[in-house]
Amino acid sequence: MVTADQLLVKQINKSIVLNTIRKKEVISRAGIAEFTGLNKSTVSFLVDELIKEGLVKEIGPGESKGGRKPIMLTINDKGGCVIGVDLGVNYILTVLTDLVGNELWEKKVDIKLGEDKEKVIDLLMQSIEEAIENAPRTVKGITGIGIGVPGIVDYRKGTVLMAPNLKWKDVPLKEMVEEKFKIKVHIDNEANVGAVGEKWFGVGIECSNFVYVSAGIGIGTGIIVNGELYRGASGLAGEIGHATINIYDELCNCGNTGCWENYASERALLDYMQAQLKQGKQDKYINSQNISDLNALRIIDFAHKGSSIAIEGLREIGKNLGVGIINLINTFNPEMVIIGNTLSLAEDIILPEILDEVSKKCFVYKYHKVKIRTSKLKFHAGAMGAVSLVISKLFAHPEF
Ligand SMILES: [Zn+2]
Repeated sequence: MVTADQLLVKQINKSIVLNTIRKKEVISRAGIAEFTGLNKSTVSFLVDELIKEGLVKEIGPGESKGGRKPIMLTINDKGGCVIGVDLGVNYILTVLTDLVGNELWEKKVDIKLGEDKEKVIDLLMQSIEEAIENAPRTVKGITGIGIGVPGIVDYRKGTVLMAPNLKWKDVPLKEMVEEKFKIKVHIDNEANVGAVGEKWFGVGIECSNFVYVSAGIGIGTGIIVNGELYRGASGLAGEIGHATINIYDELCNCGNTGCWENYASERALLDYMQAQLKQGKQDKYINSQNISDLNALRIIDFAHKGSSIAIEGLREIGKNLGVGIINLINTFNPEMVIIGNTLSLAEDIILPEILDEVSKKCFVYKYHKVKIRTSKLKFHAGAMGAVSLVISKLFAHPEF
């Protein structure tokens, strides 16, 4: 009889084999045995299973080190598809990828700030439906749907406990999407999702300890410790956007005073612009005529075209991002801080300000020069992160 322990060992070994093939991209059975320390017959047995399941494929003979040429293996890009959804505060970005994260299709839908919950959920369902319609035929079909949400999430149940910028409370989103599509759904906070995405596909691949700062309408962080997402006691870690940086300030929506995100987010940038215009500052790009149409993307675009007010605003936001990042570096001593979401698109303006602030004031930085980077995935960090939620589960727990 096969015991539960033996099954668990088999699953762990299978995950090791699968991940070795993914990381090496192309490798032989003997190569896997050599790299993992597993014996050759175990590797052969597990590889055969993975081939039967459609996750791995043979791609012909490789170079011989003497003797017969080995058959090389790779992840089967036609093995299955994954859907990743970045549910933003004012957009929904949906991507469809193969099992190694190559993008096959994407769609972005804008949503009105403050739009009804039902309408947003409708748009989300429509986007997923379109992704499914656009999926090519694969062995396993759609293997899962990942969704990143801008709020506090019970990731085990898949319930959005509180998304202040969407004004959602206790929404059983996983259940709703699974009910409709009969496909496994994984939901997490968008900053956690962004961090996992950077670990799998972005600048964090080689990094075991980093903090991902999602600088969008608000600020959230995803913390990777020893290669794993740090969730805290009940999955709510990372709400550093609501850490106080000014004790004399007004109340924030969260109940705290002078929160970081009120000084260093897209919303803070818009507030700054409004204040500048009130003081009579304007230029040919930003003035009282177009202030109501302004958003962070347009401000960044104007800055790149030479708008002095836009550049000044982004510098101010960059400096304020630096203030919070100092707290992160002093707390976590990370190898890297990765800045993602909308404000990362102004990296040429904000990064020098952040670095200036950090190098002048950060205690830990004096002893450990942490790398500060912007997300390689840029605007796709959330959606690709949502994809990695699915892929990481699939690769960690292959069928056994
Ligand atoms: Zn707050």
